[in-house]
Amino acid sequence: MSIDQRRLIQTYAHSVHMAHDTLTALDQLSGDGDFGDNLREGIDQVTTALDAAPTEPAFTIAARVFLDEVGGTSGPLIGLLFQEIAHALADDNSEAGWAAGVREGMAAIQRVGEAQAGDRTMVDALLPACDALAAGGDAHASALAALNGAKATASLRARRGRASYVGERVLGAPDPGAVGVALLFWSRAKVLEQEPGVLADILSPGQGLIPADLDMQGG
Ligand code: ADP
Ligand code: MG
Repeated sequence: MSIDQRRLIQTYAHSVHMAHDTLTALDQLSGDGDFGDNLREGIDQVTTALDAAPTEPAFTIAARVFLDEVGGTSGPLIGLLFQEIAHALADDNSEAGWAAGVREGMAAIQRVGEAQAGDRTMVDALLPACDALAAGGDAHASALAALNGAKATASLRARRGRASYVGERVLGAPDPGAVGVALLFWSRAKVLEQEPGVLADILSPGQGLIPADLDMQGG
């Protein structure tokens, strides 16, 4: 089945809007609180650019915006992920191309950011999702793996990024970047009507992914 890149990016944009306050609250705990804003502003710029360039592949646009315009540590790293997805889908706009793209995107993120599994970063959502796809799993399986990977970061001490300065304070809450990346896999599954759960439930404090006492001040 071919990949509808625009629909996927638009679904991701919607999920990022829904998750903004949660992502902000998570980054307030572990970093400087800008992750929700960076991701939402970036994806909004992408959707504006999509309208301005109706024939350009959506991941090519998303890669350009995130690499060139989006701040924080995460902006360029997510840009690399989008760039590798864009390259892979240009060769093969299918499930196999998607699996190759996310795997190469993760490799690019690790080359630049040097995070390993268990360092409490977006890699901890990407790695299980890539493994699920490599094992022949579908969009549902990879979304579930990404969400479970993000959830598991709640018990990890950070070894990369700002969260590594705050030590035990982050324990109990998942890494914002891991949640932000898991939403991309959730969105892929949503487009195929295979999503593992309703996003409002997934993001609801006390439902498993997000701690019950997370203070949402994202606005
Ligand atoms: P900043 O610390 O610059 O404000 P952001 O708030 O934009 O960064 O992004 C924070 C997220 O970036 C973290 O939650 C983590 O997932 C991710 N991150 C930080 N450092 C790395 C790294 N070296 N490799 C992969 N991801 C990283
Ligand atoms: Mg931050």
